[in-house]
Amino acid sequence: MAREQDLRARPAPNRPPRLTSRRIGIHTSTAGGVFNAAERAYRLGCNTLQIFSTSPRQWAPYELSGTQCAEMSRLRSLYDLKPLVIHTNYLVNLASTNELFLRKSVEAFRGEVERALALCAEYLVLHPGSFRGADRERGLLQTAAAIAAASKDLDLVKGGLTILIENTAGSEFSLGGSFEQVAEVVDRLRGIVPIAACIDTCHTHVAGYDMVSEEGIYQTLQHLDETIGLNNIKVVHCNDAKAARGSKLDRHQHIGKGMIGKQAFRILLNDLRLAHAAFIAETPIDKPGDDRSNVAALKRLVV
Ligand SMILES: [Zn+2]
Ligand SMILES: [Zn+2]
Repeated sequence: MAREQDLRARPAPNRPPRLTSRRIGIHTSTAGGVFNAAERAYRLGCNTLQIFSTSPRQWAPYELSGTQCAEMSRLRSLYDLKPLVIHTNYLVNLASTNELFLRKSVEAFRGEVERALALCAEYLVLHPGSFRGADRERGLLQTAAAIAAASKDLDLVKGGLTILIENTAGSEFSLGGSFEQVAEVVDRLRGIVPIAACIDTCHTHVAGYDMVSEEGIYQTLQHLDETIGLNNIKVVHCNDAKAARGSKLDRHQHIGKGMIGKQAFRILLNDLRLAHAAFIAETPIDKPGDDRSNVAALKRLVV
């Protein structure tokens, strides 16, 4: 609570934040209430943000009283924050083979969609899940069916909300380790719910794609375009990687300080085919100010 008061008491930065032609932000804490995230993101120099609308590793959702759309929209237009991206709780597994767990996940994901609509978010990011106990193909089918079931009778089109399937590190039973798997879920849901994709640079690297050499990065982009389609990538999670290419180990690192390096971020941020996307860091905070410096690092890479 004390931290919240400090946040408000601190004067806004005198220097206007550096403006870039790209939407750049960071996953932002909602401590003290969901609206504090907008204020925080602005003060970190962002013009877009990602939040959790619930505690990321617990089932119990935050209480959102009625529609929060008006207040969130007011803050977002005041601070020029768009889009608003919500990341789904990590417990949700729509590919689960356990019936009870699946039911719980579908229910929880429906809650995610409802809260995203109540906050007037543009995007809701979801990992496609883990297929332990089944096979990959059935897992992908089930995830797509579960997304459709969870969104039934909720008007995402009217709410301007699109669900984004995120690629993953591809460890063991997790779905989404290849662009083809993400594309399959997206393709299956086309015409059923507004659907597109989120690409995470760290996941891409540890899943085995080349994000390091210039030639390799362009090949990876080409592959992305041929599978998911660059126009369908609405959010890029900008994370450097602590682990080696192909290791399947998902450990995020500060921008330019990991195994990926700055080049991939420079190329992605400046490629006009991705100019529509929001670039959002999910980098660690090892010491105070790391969030601000990762946002600044991304902004400096925009030519
Ligand atoms: Zn991510
Ligand atoms: Zn990750």
